[in-house]
Amino acid sequence: MLFEKVDRDEYTQDQRIMADFVGKLANRYGREYWLAKAEKKEFPQEMWDEIADNGYFGLVIPEEYGGASLSFSDMRVFLEELAKKGLFTLHFVSFFMDSIMLLHGSEALKREYLPQMARGTYFSFALTEPDAGTNSLRIRTAAIRDGDSYRINGQKLFITGADESKYMLLVARTMPFNEDSREARKNGISLFVLDSHAEGISMQTQDIDIVTPDKQYTVFFDDVKVPAKDLIGKENMGFSYLLSGLNLERVIISCFALGMGKYVLEKAVNYSRERNIFGDPIGKYQGVQHPLSRAFIGLQLASLANRKASQALDGGENSGITGMYANMAKLASSEAAFHACDAAIQVHGGYGLTKEYDVINFSNAIRALRIAPVNNEMILNYIGEHFLGLPRSY
Ligand SMILES: Cc1cc2nc3c(=O)[nH]c(=O)nc-3n(C[C@H](O)[C@H](O)[C@H](O)COP(=O)(O)OP(=O)(O)OC[C@H]3O[C@@H](n4cnc5c(N)ncnc54)[C@H](O)[C@@H]3O)c2cc1C
Repeated sequence: MLFEKVDRDEYTQDQRIMADFVGKLANRYGREYWLAKAEKKEFPQEMWDEIADNGYFGLVIPEEYGGASLSFSDMRVFLEELAKKGLFTLHFVSFFMDSIMLLHGSEALKREYLPQMARGTYFSFALTEPDAGTNSLRIRTAAIRDGDSYRINGQKLFITGADESKYMLLVARTMPFNEDSREARKNGISLFVLDSHAEGISMQTQDIDIVTPDKQYTVFFDDVKVPAKDLIGKENMGFSYLLSGLNLERVIISCFALGMGKYVLEKAVNYSRERNIFGDPIGKYQGVQHPLSRAFIGLQLASLANRKASQALDGGENSGITGMYANMAKLASSEAAFHACDAAIQVHGGYGLTKEYDVINFSNAIRALRIAPVNNEMILNYIGEHFLGLPRSY
């Protein structure tokens, strides 16, 4: 196995145990299971339950809330190993909500929701709106205080697993939208946990062409009542809470990209060793070797940034240096995986376009990671503004 040894040499004892667990999981729920789930767009419940029963959803949740008190570096290994076996779904982005709840939830909310997160209860995340994609400050979904609850009205879209989730982490506006002031738009946003199937919520599936078991939904909120106790932290402070979770989210996306990039590269290398049309395996030709070597280097370099970002998160740093590495990791991993996938398709020739060879199946999933949850242009904007000291253009 191409990456097995390289990666394993870097792992701690705990991380090797995790990699072994994922290996066994992949033996039971391999690509055939996964592709069947993807075909039906069906939540991978059996596998999800097995991950939950073995405590992996609580990796970074403290023991007092039912978790394992392990590190972000451990979580990184777990998520990358899953993707490396081809078991990728955007449902796993939910790991980043643990840290928002831990950092900003009241003690009562932590006691109520963290043990559920640790047991694998699926939470979806609802931020994006039709007129507020990259620019989250333009969200209009409103949460208006009404006695001891809030009333929610508005619309979200692209919400992964909304219908499959028990709860939703909702980003809504608790101050009127202010066209004239960015500061006012920023300081009027709050976060809520709500029942994904509360009265007044309706959904429609979006037709998105990615070979994964997850579905995306447009979600409508029509006077949905949320108890005020389910407001996370302080009213109007939600945007800053969101920012505190972004570095982890970028690391998680990077893990998915690295895992899938390694999966397709491994397939390409194996194929290039076997395919023989001019009397030698095609892998002997440098025209075939070089793109594969370049893909390997790209993925390994991105892994370094991912490791540094995870270590910085473990050290409790969550702004300067972590932001730099987390953003580097997200951009570098998604680009490296994209190029690895392209090289893998090319090496497979016509077979690269057949579903049977299971390379093209990764193409859109990998492509999506350059766009969602944040596009790579915004990563470059962030580096330009915060590390190069250049003016913000938007
Ligand atoms: C498969 C999938 C799953 C998703 N899951 C969720 C989810 O669970 N929850 C959720 O809330 N959202 C989710 N999203 C939404 C996702 O976060 C948004 O698609 C993303 O933030 C981009 O928003 P947009 O699609 O409106 O693109 P836009 O904001 O319209 O941007 C379009 C393009 O313009 C460029 N661009 C935009 N702004 C700038 C700028 N300032 N500088 C340079 N270039 C720029 C970029 O190339 C960008 O791709 C998901 C999306 C997808 C595709």
